[in-house]
Amino acid sequence: MSSQMIPEYGDDCRSEVPRFQLFLTCYNCQRPSARYLQAVPSHITTEDDLIESGLLAKQAFLCGKCECPIGTITGVKVEWIDVPY
Ligand SMILES: [Zn+2]
Repeated sequence: MSSQMIPEYGDDCRSEVPRFQLFLTCYNCQRPSARYLQAVPSHITTEDDLIESGLLAKQAFLCGKCECPIGTITGVKVEWIDVPY
């Protein structure tokens, strides 16, 4: 016989957002690297969306080893992560 309120942590207070990982190879030293894309518009939710958006062409690259500013994109991966509101 308890009237105590138990707070609910349902799906209401969490949301899934896509996070894009970009794989690159340095044009000069061929060193592979990976990075997460920042500030991806919310309507982009798949790899295809990302490629079609042209956003990849605007990504700045700088090799951490030889400082070459030219990178070749070798792959894109999307993963869904839980974030609280
Ligand atoms: Zn390099």
